Amino acid sequence: MKLTRPEKEIELLFTTDVLVVGGGPAGIGAAVSSARAGKRTILLEKRGFLGGNITACYVENCNYYLKNTEFSSEGLYAEIEKAAYEEYGNDNIRQKNLKAFNSEYLKVFLDELMAENKVQVLFHSFVNEVIMKNDRIEGVIVQTKKGPKAIVASVIIDTTGDGDVSFAAGVPYEQGRSEDGLCMPGTVSMRITGVDSGKLMEGTERLTEIGNEFKRAYRAGETGLKCKRQDLPFGRLTKAGQISYINYSCEYGLDPTDIIDLTKGEINCRQYDLDIYRYLKEHFEEFKDSEITSLSPEIGFRDSRRIEGRYKLTIEDMESNRHFDDVIAVFPRFYDMLSPDANMDGDGKVEGKGYKGHIYEPVVDSRTFEIPYRSLVPINISNLLVAGRCISADHVAESGVRAISLCMYTGQAAGTAAALSIDSNVIPGDVDIKALQSALRAQNINIPE
Ligand SMILES: Cc1cc2nc3c(=O)[nH]c(=O)nc-3n(C[C@H](O)[C@H](O)[C@H](O)COP(=O)(O)OP(=O)(O)OC[C@H]3O[C@@H](n4cnc5c(N)ncnc54)[C@H](O)[C@@H]3O)c2cc1C
Repeated sequence: MKLTRPEKEIELLFTTDVLVVGGGPAGIGAAVSSARAGKRTILLEKRGFLGGNITACYVENCNYYLKNTEFSSEGLYAEIEKAAYEEYGNDNIRQKNLKAFNSEYLKVFLDELMAENKVQVLFHSFVNEVIMKNDRIEGVIVQTKKGPKAIVASVIIDTTGDGDVSFAAGVPYEQGRSEDGLCMPGTVSMRITGVDSGKLMEGTERLTEIGNEFKRAYRAGETGLKCKRQDLPFGRLTKAGQISYINYSCEYGLDPTDIIDLTKGEINCRQYDLDIYRYLKEHFEEFKDSEITSLSPEIGFRDSRRIEGRYKLTIEDMESNRHFDDVIAVFPRFYDMLSPDANMDGDGKVEGKGYKGHIYEPVVDSRTFEIPYRSLVPINISNLLVAGRCISADHVAESGVRAISLCMYTGQAAGTAAALSIDSNVIPGDVDIKALQSALRAQNINIPE
């Protein structure tokens, strides 16, 4: 059954040059680049803090896979990594995760970063509607405590991770694996405090050992736990006895845009977290006096809608390191795709396209892949760009594209392109690519000539 909503006038809250929707890694990159290019920039975020999955799902050790490789962070990500570390450190005493963020401090850092760059941030601002005029978004509707309000912008950048603005504007999209639409599982991360950090630091890497012991027990069917998860990645360990990130709970088969599925995921993941906490306490001396300090405020997703852009990046492009004339980012070749159907026994290789277990392909030597600008340009809306994990890519490609620092690079490309399009009075899809590339190089994004 459907109801009809009567038409109603909506108050115009702001008019701006560039409107960025979603304050995760991609939105941060887009907003700062646009503002640094001199454009009036508003950043909308549905939560009360910035950072996306870094702060809302405790994904603090984002670039762990670059360790011991020839690659390092670039652009705004490198700037934030250095400045946030210098200002706050990260309290970590493990050799692993040396550069991990302390995500609570990062929230404050990001507030300051936006203020310094004159980005107007609006929290508690959820967007799921737009007003269209032909192929243009005339206004974006923000759901607020005072009802819906409108914001008008020359260019809008969708960095919601789920492509919510694009969906509202009618951009075609794909979601999950091509044959069954299944996405990677959702996760509620956990923090534990009161572990014996002295003991955990004795001898070898004890937390890694505990992860390995758990995996062995899981595979032997000995744990009795309900959650289908054999890996137990731990984040920072502090002297004060906190493990700041335990990425364990996984709920499969969820549609990340469906409130019934989201509710199920939140509830079940919290239960799985409690189960693993009790398991750790019971089986490992180092956890005997620990307690849960927090469960992440929201379930986190690794993939969701992927919009249809002017170009869809494929694994074949990534595997062959295909060169694009409109390249806007280069990233080490790497994939991490948790199996959407919880199959942990397959070969987990890229060729299996996600139908044969967890694909984990670490960075190898100097292998890279390129992202073309056209993957950020939706096929049918003239004043919209997309950045982050919801750009135009196939499902396996997304498992590399979703890397947090790369999401920030694509955000920077979108923010820079939005500013250029306004300056040159063309739609974002028609910006001068050479000018965009040289502006990105000036932001320390490493793009080939
Ligand atoms: C448990 C877990 C572990 C991970 N581990 C790693 C890792 O180790 N390394 C790595 O590189 N990546 C990792 N990832 C993937 C990574 O977190 C994401 O791919 C990345 O955060 C995507 O960035 P984004 O900016 O595109 O989206 P997000 O981080 O999802 O940010 C989107 C932002 O938009 C906001 N938003 C969403 N919808 C709306 C709306 N309609 N209106 C207003 N605001 C909205 C959200 O609140 C959020 O702040 C992990 C993900 C998860 C869930």
